[in-house]
Amino acid sequence: MNSSSLQSGAAGQTAARPLGVLAALPQELGDLIAAMQAESGVTTRTLGRRDYHIGTVHGVPCVVTLARVGKVAAAATVSALIHVFDVEAVVFTGVAGGVGPDVHVGDVVVGETLLQHDMNAEPLFPRHEIPLLARSRFDADRALAAALAAACERFIEEEGTALAERFSAALPRFETALPRVHRGLVISGDQFVASAAAVGDLRAALPDALAVEMEGAAIAQVCYEYDVPCAVVRTISDTADEHASTSFSSFLTEIAGTYSTGILRRFLASWTPAQR
Ligand code: SAH
Repeated sequence: MNSSSLQSGAAGQTAARPLGVLAALPQELGDLIAAMQAESGVTTRTLGRRDYHIGTVHGVPCVVTLARVGKVAAAATVSALIHVFDVEAVVFTGVAGGVGPDVHVGDVVVGETLLQHDMNAEPLFPRHEIPLLARSRFDADRALAAALAAACERFIEEEGTALAERFSAALPRFETALPRVHRGLVISGDQFVASAAAVGDLRAALPDALAVEMEGAAIAQVCYEYDVPCAVVRTISDTADEHASTSFSSFLTEIAGTYSTGILRRFLASWTPAQR
C-alpha cells in the first residue's frame, strides 16, 4: 500500500483513508449499503440531514451517502466527505440523460471531463466559466475513471445480453443491442432536461457532451478546489427529450440498481491504492 494513502488510526496503527461513494437517489446505490452491512457492519453518522454510512465493502473502506438532487446538494455533500470523513477520493454513481447522438438508454457514460452547462456570467466571464476560478471544465481523475470504465466494460460483457433481454420488454426505449460504455464530457445543471429543443440547445453549445445530469460537475469543482481525485459514472435512463420523465422513472425503479450493483462491485473489487 502506498504510504500517502495511510494515516494514523486512533490506536496508533495505520488505516487506509476511505473512499467516498455517493449518488443522488437511493436506487442509484444498488445493493452497496446492504453489502457493506453484510461485510463489515455499518456505522451511520447523520450530518446536514444526510446519513453517512461508514464500513468496508468489497474490501474497500468506504463512506457511502446520498447527496439528493442538484449542484448545491452535491457540493455540500462532497464537502462533508472531504472535511469530516477525510476521504481519499470520491466516486459518484447514478443515472443521466443521453445527449450525444450515439448515447442510448441502457448505455453507460464515464465522465472524463465535467462542466456546469447552466453557469453563465456573461459578459463578465466567458459562458460556462466558473467566475474567479478561470476554468469551465474539470477533469475526473484518470486512474479512477479508467478503473470505473473497465468495471463497466466487464459488467456489460458479463451481464449485458441478459440486461438487454430483461429490460427491453419493460422499457420500449431500452435498446435491444448490447449496451455500450462511452467516455467523455458529462454536463450538469439545476434542470431536469426533458425536451428535444433543450437537448438541441445543449448540443449546439457543447457538441462533445455525452450526458446531462444535475450533480457531477459540482462534485468535480469541489474536488478540484481541494485536490481530491474524483470520478463520475452515469447509466443512461432517458434521452433528455419529451419521453425523459417516464423513461427516467421506470429506469430508476426497475434498472438503475442493477447497473450500480454490477458496476460498483467490479470497480471496488479491482480498486487498490496502487492504481492511483
Ligand atoms: N427526486 C425526483 C427527481 C430526480 S431529478 C425523482 O426521483 O423523480 C433526476 C435525477 O437523475 C438527477 O439526480 C439527475 O442527475 C439525473 N438525471 C437523469 N436524467 C436527467 C435529465 N434528463 N436531465 C437532468 N438530470 C437527469
